[in-house]
Amino acid sequence: MKQNDARGTMHAERESTNLPFIVPRSDFRVSTLRVLLWDIDGTLVRTKRSGVFRDYTTPAIKRIFGTAGRLHEMQVSGMTDLQIICEALRDEGFTPADVAARRGEICEQFVAELERVTNAGMLYAAIPGVRETLAAVEREPRYLSALLTGNVERAAYWKLRVTGLAEFFRLPGAFGEDSDDRRDLPALAAARINGSLGLNLLPAQFIVIGDTPNDIACARHYGARVVAVATGRSHTAQDLLPFNPDALIEDFDDPAVLLRTLALL
Ligand SMILES: [Mg+2]
Repeated sequence: MKQNDARGTMHAERESTNLPFIVPRSDFRVSTLRVLLWDIDGTLVRTKRSGVFRDYTTPAIKRIFGTAGRLHEMQVSGMTDLQIICEALRDEGFTPADVAARRGEICEQFVAELERVTNAGMLYAAIPGVRETLAAVEREPRYLSALLTGNVERAAYWKLRVTGLAEFFRLPGAFGEDSDDRRDLPALAAARINGSLGLNLLPAQFIVIGDTPNDIACARHYGARVVAVATGRSHTAQDLLPFNPDALIEDFDDPAVLLRTLALL
């Protein structure tokens, strides 16, 4: 499957993992199909200590732009990588266009530093129960899983590979190099997924699953549904509730909980 957009190199990266694009199984009606758009950090994977994000992004940004600006003082959860860099460098004379123009280098450096500082992935782990939950979802013809993450695509798949979750994500998605505003990502993911499947799924057939208010906001912006999960470091269930997700679950300890939740949306 070829994507005729400007992201050929990123698609080539996914293709290099030999993950085939999937076609819908025959035993479902299109109107009942739901695409789950999974966030990564704090939702599918977590680091074994805090601060790993800054460890790999600070040297990457410094190498490209000569400074990491105010990255050290920022709260970054739920932001896209492009957005984080724009925000960090705003007072350093770099415009969002300057940052976007170097997205190729950004993707390359982020993965290089990620591999270097995390010692071959030893610092990342799948969140408990996530693997079993993804497997349970995959057994249901009604659901497909895809990624909607602030990570640049290469970093996203790197994190999924080292945590053993990459096999569940064979559809296109939306990633951190796509926009400096996460609210743009659901529409991009939906367009790519519809193109890949040859379908025209409606916004309400997409369900964002994420651990921050930004995940909820991006879903609302597009008209998707959203399940908030209190699995991240930055927001508890109490923190997330005021943002009015369609549903909220505490963890993935019992895969049946997400399936029951999805069935109600
Ligand atoms: Mg997250």
